Amino acid sequence: MVGVRRHIHKHPETSYDEHRCSEFIKEQLQSLGIEFTGGYGGTGIAAHIGGCGTGGCVGLRADMDALPITEGTGLPFASEQHGIMHACGHDGHVAMLLGAAALLKNGPSLPGGVRLIFQPAEEHGNGAAQLIREGILDGVQAIFGGHIDTHYRTGMIIVDEGLICAFADPFTITLNGRGGHAARPHEGTDSIVAASSLVMIIQTLVSREVDPNKSEVITIGSFQAGNAHNIIAAQAVLKGTVRSTDEMTREKTIWGLKRVVQSISTMYDLRADIVFDQGLPAVINGPQATAIARRAAAQVVGEDGVTCQGYPSLGGEDFSFYQQYIEGCMVRFGAMLPGGAGPAHSATFDFDENCLKVGASWLAMAAYHWLDAYRR
Ligand SMILES: [Zn+2]
Ligand SMILES: [Zn+2]
Repeated sequence: MVGVRRHIHKHPETSYDEHRCSEFIKEQLQSLGIEFTGGYGGTGIAAHIGGCGTGGCVGLRADMDALPITEGTGLPFASEQHGIMHACGHDGHVAMLLGAAALLKNGPSLPGGVRLIFQPAEEHGNGAAQLIREGILDGVQAIFGGHIDTHYRTGMIIVDEGLICAFADPFTITLNGRGGHAARPHEGTDSIVAASSLVMIIQTLVSREVDPNKSEVITIGSFQAGNAHNIIAAQAVLKGTVRSTDEMTREKTIWGLKRVVQSISTMYDLRADIVFDQGLPAVINGPQATAIARRAAAQVVGEDGVTCQGYPSLGGEDFSFYQQYIEGCMVRFGAMLPGGAGPAHSATFDFDENCLKVGASWLAMAAYHWLDAYRR
């Protein structure tokens, strides 16, 4: 698994471009004697162990895409692709799922079927949705997955029932004013002043309109406007995301955003529009799947190794799309490096490879337990 992880790490590919990774996975599956179907979402793979007949069928999922980041770890197996890096641990997820595949293939015979899902474009945010449209869940009744998390020490598995990752609603706001000479503002409509005001007003939506007991955040991550010191910028474009942990507050905030954008156009006499891009549902772990996930985790790392994350993460995860159709549980695998490393999505991210065996064992064990419970 360490070899697999390092190979994939060295050759990272971004969302929907995971061609080499996909070919590499197919080779590994072939050498394990596991049948598969490729081409889901271009690079996605569904591998099949056991028969999906009367014994039920359980899905195990790993994402496989990297990020547009230039690696700065200096590791001997660092990215050879300038500007692309596995900075979220998906290289490890692929290695874990291949490890689980080996365990399931060579272990005791299964009472049902297991579908291994190698998924493209998690970072892009809709790989899972695309795979589902192409039928990857056909016949699958429950799904399990995990994510490496360097906030926790290696040997810990973090299992929580209910909402663990937030609703994510990305948006783009465009303000169209009128350009003009910097010295004569009255002849134009300054989109930068209006957009600046809007950024500040947006800060009050969460602080003044959302129940303080319900976690929510709005971040404006991009503000693009103007290109010279002496020209009034005609257009400003803001990009941001809403992260919420409650359906009601989510709707209220989306409504609030539309409201303040509309108001800013009146206030500054320009055109202001907001468009919501495709968002992500929240990851909500079902009670049965979570009970199985917890049992499998205790078996792999002992009762002491199983913990809860407490407050939900405000991060998004497209595993949630699977849970729109079938019950599932997503966990986290502790992977803290003793020497420390940069956080996920940074150029210096790295994780403790000892987590790979934990992840592989848990995935295989979760599948066993689910099939066993289904049989009863
Ligand atoms: Zn990520
Ligand atoms: Zn990730």
